[in-house]
Amino acid sequence: MDIPPHLPLEVSPEEVRELGAAVVSRLAEFVAAVPRRPAGAVPDMAAVAELVAPFTAAPPEEGGDLSALLDRLCRAADLAMETAGPRVLAAIPGGGIYTSALAEFFTRTVNRFGGLAAAAPALTAMEESVLRWMAQDVCGLPAGSSGILTTGGSTANLSAVVTARHIRLGESLENGILYVGAQAHHSVAKAARIAGIRERNIRVVPTTGRLHLDVAATAETIRRDRRDGLRPFLLVATAGTTDAGTIDPLPALAALAEEENLWFHVDAAYGGFFRLTERGRRRLAGVERADSVTLDPHKTLFLPFGTGALVVRDPGALAAAHQGTGSVLQDVGSSDALPDYAYRGIELSRENRGTRVWLPLHLHGVAAFRTALDEKLDLAEHAYGQLTGMPALDVPRRPELSTVTFRVRPRDASPEAVEKADEATRKLPRHINASGRVLIYSTVIEGRQAIRMCVVAYATHREHVDEALDEIAAAVAAL
Ligand SMILES: *Cc1c(COP(=O)(O)O)cnc(C)c1O
Repeated sequence: MDIPPHLPLEVSPEEVRELGAAVVSRLAEFVAAVPRRPAGAVPDMAAVAELVAPFTAAPPEEGGDLSALLDRLCRAADLAMETAGPRVLAAIPGGGIYTSALAEFFTRTVNRFGGLAAAAPALTAMEESVLRWMAQDVCGLPAGSSGILTTGGSTANLSAVVTARHIRLGESLENGILYVGAQAHHSVAKAARIAGIRERNIRVVPTTGRLHLDVAATAETIRRDRRDGLRPFLLVATAGTTDAGTIDPLPALAALAEEENLWFHVDAAYGGFFRLTERGRRRLAGVERADSVTLDPHKTLFLPFGTGALVVRDPGALAAAHQGTGSVLQDVGSSDALPDYAYRGIELSRENRGTRVWLPLHLHGVAAFRTALDEKLDLAEHAYGQLTGMPALDVPRRPELSTVTFRVRPRDASPEAVEKADEATRKLPRHINASGRVLIYSTVIEGRQAIRMCVVAYATHREHVDEALDEIAAAVAAL
């Protein structure tokens, strides 16, 4: 390679090509290996300080060799939990499609300012087209709805809580009460705390046996709070719970929120994009009645980590809650035709975040995503069918999306037998994951241990799910 040892900050066109080609050729190897990648190279955290020691050197005064630095980067990326491969059925994988990373490379290279429309109106318009697609086409919100691309579901939920608080409570936070289901993601309670909602004002409402938020119990709690002189302001439903992929009864909750004049937020970080499929659209009916919806393109649009979205019925509400400008910006123009994302969210300086969503959608077409999501629903159904055929397992519910949960079946209903089965369930992932072929995690659902299998990575196909089922059958047989 002809890259000089003292590479200046301003690189020549030849260097742009050579540097890029060097990186792309490493990535081509990585991407080619994705389907083969095992899941099990989980770093040993007991020895982690030693493992990472070679990576902690401070930057040198004189520059180094790109090829050696790329070697180091590749080794660092390999010392990791596999998150790009098809055998990850733990947490909520996504995989990270290459074409989104390419868009990001473009965005970072041209480095336009994404906080204010005037800085790059056409790129802003493209970002806005993606947001309108998510709000109107995916979620079914009315014309005029849009939102903001965030760094993830947690920051989207934070902006949702802040917006609901601003619109419904103004400055008097004292008695504002938020309602959220026991199966909701912990980022909602975290958002509430950050937003200044008192811990004692967060009502965690129980779920029914099917893990759906209990509408009658919610209604009763709201009425009691009103009688006590408190101010209910926000109802959060989950469309695709993280643990079990269950969907709260959205139409009934939307009606309750309307009746009680609460802001209705739907956390669809995991489930939302399944609305691209026919089954998903049916099961996720009611999302279109929300005031705000959290989506996570880095989950169910298979994008690399770092892209979430909050879409809202009324972008004006988002702007009211996130306003703030300084005189340093007084010379920058604005237009009603385009949003200034700095005034819809937390950040001022930001990249053009839409490009990494826009390019994959336009390049592959929406149908490619619809087909992939449909496949994941089929795979979860397939896994459910196979798991219910294993007598040692209890598979409590048919998947509503692409997550199946199961546990070791107790010998009888006695507390001792249940406890023993729970202990066996807790140990099961270690055995399932022992060979390093697949990665599956456990969780706790309603106080009981459960294993969850979440089929979302873009590269996960029938053979990978079957591999996981083989490992599960072997682990169960060894119990
Ligand atoms: C993953 C998830 C979140 C948090 O999203 P991040 O992108 O990890 O911050 C919130 N809600 C639900 C339902 C989720 O599944």
